[in-house]
Amino acid sequence: MTSDTILDEAKELVYGDRGAAYGHPLDDYARTAGAASALLAHKLREPLLAEDVIIIMECVKLSREVNSPKRDNRVDMAGYALCLDRVYEERRARQELCLVCHKPAPGGVEINGIWPFCPACARKEHEDAAQHKEATDARQPSTP
Ligand SMILES: [Zn+2]
Repeated sequence: MTSDTILDEAKELVYGDRGAAYGHPLDDYARTAGAASALLAHKLREPLLAEDVIIIMECVKLSREVNSPKRDNRVDMAGYALCLDRVYEERRARQELCLVCHKPAPGGVEINGIWPFCPACARKEHEDAAQHKEATDARQPSTP
């Protein structure tokens, strides 16, 4: 293992036996995100996503690396980056990325048969449509 780079080790960790034990990283971290969201609901504006949990884990590893540099931290940081990428690829495969901003939109919003939109982009689409209607209505000759 000593001749392997941290990327080789990270890849082995992410694609090795863990998949069978924990399931796809999207499902694994989505479960954690759901539990953490329930526990922290009083502090959150919206639920955490799998991606958020992975980013928090990157923060844990960065903090440990700053405190005491270790190769294991760097292997895990590479592994979490790989996990994050796998989660985005899986969301793309499951059609769970917003069509506009490409952010995660699990169970995204549908507008005129087109989906998924994330809640923020769906709001903007509705506002733009309302402004367009107002502008169009203002141009119409008024009826007596
Ligand atoms: Zn969006």
